[in-house]
Amino acid sequence: MEQRPYVLIFLGPPGAGKGTQAARVAERLGLKKISTGDILRAHVREGTELGKKVAPIMERGDLVPDELILAIIREELKKLDTPRVIFDGFPRTRAQAEALDRLLEELGLKVDAVVLLEVPTEELVKRLLKRAREEGRADDNEETIRRRLEVYQKETEPLIDYYARRGVLFTLQGTGPVDEITECILKVLGAL
Ligand code: AMP
Repeated sequence: MEQRPYVLIFLGPPGAGKGTQAARVAERLGLKKISTGDILRAHVREGTELGKKVAPIMERGDLVPDELILAIIREELKKLDTPRVIFDGFPRTRAQAEALDRLLEELGLKVDAVVLLEVPTEELVKRLLKRAREEGRADDNEETIRRRLEVYQKETEPLIDYYARRGVLFTLQGTGPVDEITECILKVLGAL
């Protein structure tokens, strides 16, 4: 079967379940999940130059500078013959979204769909605190969680409108059984 290029973005606040759902949808549709958070955490773990630079930023719950993120994205896209990807946690700023558009245009591609997962704030905080206990992520403490939610509202939420205007945005509730959310996503994407 011919594998056409496909570019999906998972958007939503920290704790909305983007990573979990992106992994499940990637598996079902044969896409590669590109998670900037996972890539950055690997750099921090391995103590690379980039890791050393971003560790304090991530621990505060702030955003890593756009140029560093875009260098990662360019590198990841270069590895693929035919981009069939889900971006998880990228783009997070208007500048990143515009740079992604330019990058895709150079490849003759565009964003096919954006999946926005909505979850009430109290539920997000509860989930992030639970993840903090279970996984011990350095940025999952109460103060940083608050900061990450603020940064999301200020920097990332405007992207909802950016993609909605283009008619590529699909908004879904990110609460309830994980399987049902996955099925809903696949359905809105026309994959079921
Ligand atoms: P995440 O796992 O997606 O919640 O990302 C964890 C942290 O990595 C964020 O709080 C940011 O500090 C950093 N990060 C991940 N993706 C991006 C991005 N696209 N732009 C800026 N910072 C990012």
